[in-house]
Amino acid sequence: MENFVYNGNPGRVIFGHGTVARLPEEAERLRARRILVLSTPEQAGQAADIARHMGSSVVATYSKAQMHTPVEVTADAMRVVEEHAVDALLTIGGGSTTGLGKALAFRTDLPQIVVPTTYAGSEATPILGETEGGRKVTKSDPRILPEVIVYDVDLTMTLPVSLSVTSGINAVAHAVEALYAKEANPIISLMAEEGVGAIARALPLIYSNPKDEVARADALYGAWLCGVCLGSVGMALHHKLCHTLGGMFNLPHAQMHTAVLPHAVAYNADATPQAMARLSKALGVADAAAGLFDLANGLGAAMSLKDLGMPDDSVEVAVEQAMSNAYWNPRALEKRGLTDLLERAFRGEPPK
Ligand code: NAD
Repeated sequence: MENFVYNGNPGRVIFGHGTVARLPEEAERLRARRILVLSTPEQAGQAADIARHMGSSVVATYSKAQMHTPVEVTADAMRVVEEHAVDALLTIGGGSTTGLGKALAFRTDLPQIVVPTTYAGSEATPILGETEGGRKVTKSDPRILPEVIVYDVDLTMTLPVSLSVTSGINAVAHAVEALYAKEANPIISLMAEEGVGAIARALPLIYSNPKDEVARADALYGAWLCGVCLGSVGMALHHKLCHTLGGMFNLPHAQMHTAVLPHAVAYNADATPQAMARLSKALGVADAAAGLFDLANGLGAAMSLKDLGMPDDSVEVAVEQAMSNAYWNPRALEKRGLTDLLERAFRGEPPK
């Protein structure tokens, strides 16, 4: 056994079916009396249904959460927080809504109860990515980490199949990079392997039957484990590349992660044999990079960054930007290798 450091984030997790019925109890544990409910416009109806469980402790709702947490939206929501003297946040939705709740908690230190409805995993991390003037800036702070997560499998039944697949692979990406992270440790690697296995088993079942409750539960369980991985150890090339591409070209988050991941894994494979062995085992394949590509491609995900909106002739400038901030990666960042990686992802070809 090698030396290691394990840094666990505090947090309470309720997992199951129909768990939103336990929200009043959770609010009471936090002594929340003046709750603000957050959602996207698309999930306003679902959020209102859930808020009904909370009775008079809900004092306001704000349903304008947007992807990439623009600071203007946060400022708008801050006015609601102040106007209603809010004392807790109830966040219902995917990573975009969770991002808004975290941005408010960062500014106010209000406690957060998060009810995730995708597999993004943001609810388990103290990380916030905010967009200001077209630039995404990431920060980490204990105030950002949600106090309570209520996973209700029933709420994920409506997640469209295509987003289930890409959101699931987004979660897998957190676990993959945790396996070869600079701060990798045996506890997080256990979670990573278990998380990848649960999601890889669940996605094909969800693809053929989106109402498969067992598969939905497995995917959500896996997403939580993968989120814990993201929140506990540092990430590497894959997440930095996606951060760069997302910021430069505003590509859709989960879909972009899905198209890039097999190539980032292929790039790092020779430098991380132990991580690759665990990843291949979890995926049930001989070659992890090819296995990830086949999994996503076979479930109908778009594998070409061009199809996701990356402009022609932009690979070179993206590589330059990705290399401009020095960051840790198990294999040195090489211009030729990264150009090849992004060109293949741009065209939607299998990893090499
Ligand atoms: P999302 O939250 O943007 O959701 C996409 C769409 O699906 C939205 O319209 C949403 O309302 C809808 N939706 C969500 N759940 C649904 C359901 N069960 N049924 C029907 N519709 C549903 O997508 P996402 O991929 O979850 O989140 C992406 C965002 O999360 C990005 O901004 C990304 O940066 C952030 N993120 C942050 C972290 C972190 O730790 N800070 C981690 C992962 C992702």
